[in-house]
Amino acid sequence: MAERAAQEYAENPAPVGAWLTPKELRRRNRELAKYGRRICRTHQGAALPLDSEHFYYANRAIGQFDTECKHCFKARDKRNKLERYHADPQWRARFLAKNEARRQRRRSEYLAQRADYRRRKKAERLAAVLDKAVAK
Ligand SMILES: [Zn+2]
Repeated sequence: MAERAAQEYAENPAPVGAWLTPKELRRRNRELAKYGRRICRTHQGAALPLDSEHFYYANRAIGQFDTECKHCFKARDKRNKLERYHADPQWRARFLAKNEARRQRRRSEYLAQRADYRRRKKAERLAAVLDKAVAK
């Protein structure tokens, strides 16, 4: 894990600030917690506000936040999925099947909504015609 982080750091050192050891990072974050801030374990660029806008919850029930910021989490998740998509055919098949199922579900929801809208509009047009006929 540390090896991978070090490798990522070597590949992309730009956003990285101090690059602390895990022990030192924990010590600083304990200190920063008093000010409601936290340094992300992955990019360590700045002490971010410790809130749900910058960090995902690790345990929502007790209001505990993750040690990695949302931005880094999303980037890592995207990278892992892309890697897995190309490396694991079974995973890719499941991924594509899930996407297709979602697409079909949304499509049928859309079609049902559209049919409902058209039915309503048709009824309105008919009501308008009938109103006019009665008024005469
Ligand atoms: Zn981060």
